[in-house]
Order: sequence, then C-alpha cells, then structure tokens
Amino acid sequence: MIIDMTNGKEYPLWRNAVLYSELEERLDGIAKRYPANVRIEKMGKSNEGRDLYLVILAEDVTDEGIAKYEAFRKTALREPKRVLTGLENGENYKIPLFFNANLHGTEISGTDGLLLFIEELLAGDKAALRNAFIAISICENPDGRFKGYDILNGNCADLNRDFCAQTQPETRAIIERAIVRFLPSIMVDFHGFMSSGDVLIDTCTPPHNPNTEYDLLEEHLHKDAQAMADAIYKKMRVKSAIPALIWEDGWEDYSPVYTATFCQNFGCIAHTLETTFPNEDGMKIDAIAAAGALEYALKNKKRLLEGQCRYFLRGIEGTSKAPARVPAYYVIPFSRETQRDRETAAGAVKKLLRCGIRVFRAEQSGDYVIPTAQALRGLINGTLWQGEDITQKIKNLYDVSFDSEPIMRGFDIRMCESLDSGEKLTEIAEAPLAAGTLNLGGEEDWHCFTSGKNSSVKLANLLLDSGIEVYRGEGSENADFYFRGDSCLGLVKKFVDGHDLAVGPAALPEKTYRLKKQKALIVADSAGAYEVLSDWGFDVTMLPFSALNRGYEIHPEDYDLLIFGGTRLHIWSDPFDEDMGVGYGTSWALRGRGRTELIRAAKEFKNLILFGYAGNALNEELGLIHQAKGDEEQKNNQENLTDWHLNTGSGSFKLRFDVSDPLCGGFREEETVYLVGPLPLTESDNARVVGNFGENAFLNGWCTEKEHLNGKPVLLYRKEDSGTKILMGIDPCYRRYVDATYRLMSNAVYLVGKE
Ligand SMILES: [Zn+2]
Repeated sequence: MIIDMTNGKEYPLWRNAVLYSELEERLDGIAKRYPANVRIEKMGKSNEGRDLYLVILAEDVTDEGIAKYEAFRKTALREPKRVLTGLENGENYKIPLFFNANLHGTEISGTDGLLLFIEELLAGDKAALRNAFIAISICENPDGRFKGYDILNGNCADLNRDFCAQTQPETRAIIERAIVRFLPSIMVDFHGFMSSGDVLIDTCTPPHNPNTEYDLLEEHLHKDAQAMADAIYKKMRVKSAIPALIWEDGWEDYSPVYTATFCQNFGCIAHTLETTFPNEDGMKIDAIAAAGALEYALKNKKRLLEGQCRYFLRGIEGTSKAPARVPAYYVIPFSRETQRDRETAAGAVKKLLRCGIRVFRAEQSGDYVIPTAQALRGLINGTLWQGEDITQKIKNLYDVSFDSEPIMRGFDIRMCESLDSGEKLTEIAEAPLAAGTLNLGGEEDWHCFTSGKNSSVKLANLLLDSGIEVYRGEGSENADFYFRGDSCLGLVKKFVDGHDLAVGPAALPEKTYRLKKQKALIVADSAGAYEVLSDWGFDVTMLPFSALNRGYEIHPEDYDLLIFGGTRLHIWSDPFDEDMGVGYGTSWALRGRGRTELIRAAKEFKNLILFGYAGNALNEELGLIHQAKGDEEQKNNQENLTDWHLNTGSGSFKLRFDVSDPLCGGFREEETVYLVGPLPLTESDNARVVGNFGENAFLNGWCTEKEHLNGKPVLLYRKEDSGTKILMGIDPCYRRYVDATYRLMSNAVYLVGKE
C-alpha cells in the first residue's frame, strides 16, 4: 500500500491546462475533426490504471497504413541498405518523430503544448504529413499529473530513470508502442521547469556513452537543439541554454537510463527539453519547440534518415566508431549448473527482445546467444558489458554511470569471439520459462530450498501466508529455507512450475530460526525497497515524501519496523526548502516539516533498517548505532555539491560479507555488486560489523572518493530485547536496478523478526 494524501482528488492545474480527466474527451474531439490524419491509441495503463494515450499524426492512419509504416521501420533496422538505396533513388519516405510529454508529474506543459501543436498542425494544410510520421505520448505519467506529484509516478518511481530497468508499465508502453515500433529519427522529451526564465535543450556535455555512434548523432543533435532554441526565441523572446555550449560537464548523456539517452541507442536525435514555467508561456514554448523539431526534420529529412540507416548498418557490419570494446557474442548460460540465476537471466533476455534485439538459443545447451553484429550493437553492449572507469574523465556526473544487466541483476554471462561450429542456433521471440523442480519426500520429512535466489524469498512468504512454519538455517554453511507438511506441496509445485527453484527433502540443520513476517513502514527516495518487498509478499506500506511534507502523521504503533533511507544526503536537506514548488508537495526530498515528523516518529520505533546517506543521517540524529558515522570526507563532498542532482559514485564495487550471519545469508563471501552513492561507515562499540567494502572495492563506473571505501564497514547492526537497529552504507534495492542485492533487505526484515 502507498499512503496517499490526495483523497482521490484531482490536482487543480492552471486555468488553461487540461486536467487528465478531460484528456480523453479532448483527444476524441481532435480525432473526430481530423479522422483522416489522427489516430488515438491506448498504449496500456499506468500503475493506478489510467489510460496511456499515443497520438499518431500521419497521412494514412488506417490499420494498413500503420502496418505499412511499421514494416518500413523494420526494414530500416534489419536491412538498412535497402532503405539507403531507396533514398538514393528518390523514394519519398516519411521521417518518424516521437514526442513524449509530462513524464514527470507536475511538469505538465508538454501535454498542453503538444495539444496546441497538434491542433495547429491539423488546422493548417497538413503538408508536413506528406513527409513526416509523428507519434506523441501525450501524457506519459497520468498518475503524477492527476495527483500533483512533482517527479514520481503512481508507484513512487521516477520514469525518467527507468529505461534500462523497465520496471514500470508506463516505461514499457512507450518502449514497445512508440520507440521500438517506429524507431524515431528525432525525439523530444518535454520536461520543465527551469524556473530561471530560460529553456534548456540538450545537446549534452561529455562524456558521451561509448556504446553510441556519437559522431553520427552530434551534428544533428546540436543543430536540432539550436533550431528549437531559435524558433522559441523568435516567437517568445525566451532564451535557451544548451548544456554542451555552456557547461564543461555534469549534464552528460553517458547514463543510458533516461528517455532521451535510451533513444540515442536507436540512432535517434533525442533531446530533453525543460520549459520555463507551468503556465501559458511554458505551454507555448513546448508547442513552438515541437514545430521547430518538425521543421528541422523536414528540412533535413534525407540526411537524417540516411544517418540513422548508417547507424544501424555500422552495427550489422561491425564498422562501429563507438569507443567501447565489443565481443562478437554474448552468451548467457542456461543450465542450472552454469547459470546461478536462470530467472533473472531470462528477465534480461525478455528486455533485450522488447528492445528489438535478436536473441538466439543454442539447440543443445539451451544457452542464449546474442550476436553483436546487429543494428542495435551498441545497445546490446551497453546492456550486457561490465562497464568502464570514467572517474578521471569528469568532475561531476548527473546520475548513475553505466548500465550492466549481469552485474545489477546478478547472473552469469560469457563473452566470446566465436561459437562452437555445429552449434545450431534458433532465433527466439520469447524467453522460455526457467521452471524449477520439486522432489517429494515422506509426509513427515522436512523440505528445503536455497536462499541464494530472489524467488526463494517469495516462496518463503507464500508458505508463511499459508500458515506453514518456515525455518532458516543459521551459520556459515547453510542459510537455506526449511518447511514440513505435505498439505502445502500442491502450492509449492505450482510455484516451482513458474520459478527456478529446486525443492526437495533434507534434514533440518541443528541451528535454525523461525521466520516471522513483519509489518514495515517505508520512507525512501526510490520505490525500490517498497516494490521489491511488496512483490515478495512482505507486509509493507510506502510513505512518500510528498505525504510527509504535506503533514502526514506517522503512527509507529501500527508497524513492527521502519525502513528509511536514500542514496543522497540531499533527500535529508532539501536545497529547495525555500522554494514554493508545484503540486501537493515535493515527492523527491524531505522538507523541514516532513523531516521533523520523521525524526519524531523514528524515536518511537523499536526496530529500524536505515540505509544510504539519509539513513545514516537519521542514525546520527538518534544515536542508535554509536559512532557509526559515514565517512566525513565523503559526506562533506556530498554536502559541498550545491547542485541537488550529483552523487559521489556509482558502478561496480566489491563487497565482503560475513556469510555466517543471518543478515548476509544466501550471499557469497565476496560479491561484485552495483552501488549508487556508496557510503563507507565506521565501527561502533554497540554493533556488529557483518559486511565491508572489499580491498580496492571500486571496479568500474564513476567514483571520486574510492580510496575512502576500501575495507570500511558497510553493514552494521545491533539486536537486543529493546529492538533491532540495522545500518547499511548502501541502498540494496536502489530504484529496482539491483536484483543482486535485494536479498540484503529481505534478510534484514527477517532478522528483525528473529527471536
Ligand atoms: Zn523532468
């Protein structure tokens, strides 16, 4: 459950902005007036069940017309030479554009601006549609618009950080129904607000992602941004800031998690645009910018289409100029002997397929084989590689560094230059389910399953919910789960049919403890912990910052424990405290009012799990785990970063665990994991240290204070009659990027309930 202070009421927008509840009628009206050129599709539903609309403006919006256009785009991807030849022969292809509006809740102007753009375009002679095909996600975050959440969607997730993880239905909808389907040559993601009176339009600062063919994008990125800026200035006398021209770094397109940077992987000239204010000016600016981008696309149609085909061709022919080293094949092992987590591996394959990447299976081994000689070569590498160290390249990084499914999710992968000859490959359209096994023992026998896989926690909770006693081994050798009783075996059978777990008879170890479910309240800067724990069947309630900032009163007596944290110090000291803000309250940081209430209530909780910079700040405030302070220099560095967006590091790091301790059960002694904002802690006189950063802990990514991490404590706790206090220098569920460390959080919850 997510606590909601809006009481189901729609947030009132400025007088000319369309309410989400009015949007369908408005769109239907447009479609009725211009049936020949407008198609309204429902792409899916938001977290709270609101429709996601895709508006298509084209010369032919019939089913046949759309199918024909989709086929053209698929040819451009799979056989770019054919389209290049067509272009040479003067074929009149229509250039695809994609506009995305209102991804962040109160950044509303894109929706209104694009409605204006649509109406102006259709009221004119519509000549543009003879040369362009335009798809518009008119309100990408309906829950946020409806509720007045400034950044988040209805599930407390930031959609503009979700394009690699793809955990939210809103993200998946535009990937499938707009980006991969139409492969836009130009896209603009409409945000706001700079509140400085200026507009901001990317081209970004370096470093650029080494997996994109940046030399093919750069010229158009810059000229298209300038074309939009010029159009805005001409009509509105408002200036635009283009980061590449004014800043050295800190506004880079290195991280592939954003809407626009994700689109660049498809050879797309993709921008984020931040308009000025949530008012009539902000709206007009967006309409003008969209028209400016369209005009640029029409003027440069042939060169843009050619450039994108060359982008794909480089991938297919292996003539890439992108600096990253790419193997000929990635192989994801399939058998239980060679793959430590077949379910997360299958999840990654599903994502590759969603992105239009071709995946094959080896007939004998069942391994997934991904040849990199494909149009989307850079995206393949940027999803499956081990990253690189870019610390020396820049002083500031806006968000996380590289993406890596194997490290973040925790599955095995191989790189190779050639395959066994004779290995027959078959292309797949779906990732096959990696089913588990159930071996039946006698009626009175104990059955056991590993705790080293994420699905095991789900099964443990399922059994607990059915009234079955579940025990967990304790000690260095065994942290597995145990249960008895044949009444539940039907349920277990059903579970393992869909999850890769092996369940079978085993003797109960000497030392065990009984699992108890706990009722937790979560306050955090990302929905990660909430989504993971609720997905796994824990009893959790998420309290968003927006509700706390609006005056929500916490009742500690309703819960067993408080889970609180965040990877940035600034969620604890909102630099915009003085700012009025837009919406019911900021949802991305705690303001004075929310902070005061949290501290008051936290004192009454007996059990607390605190993580990251913000969790550490609360620990210091309450003095729960003595002396366990975050590294001072690391923290000063965070505090000195006046810009709210910066973090101190992200990427792959080595952690060492005391696997004999219940908090670390199911992990290996040393794990390579993906961390954002790692915070080295100090030892305490009243708590145990059960996890440390490894020696030379930092591997790849961006980390300016890496020497401060080495060997330092990262997991501490004390457990006594008065309660359990757990402190982590990491966020093990960060934005649901990091399946490999989720179980630290579930272990912590079980530890609280341990007697
Ligand atoms: Zn935004």
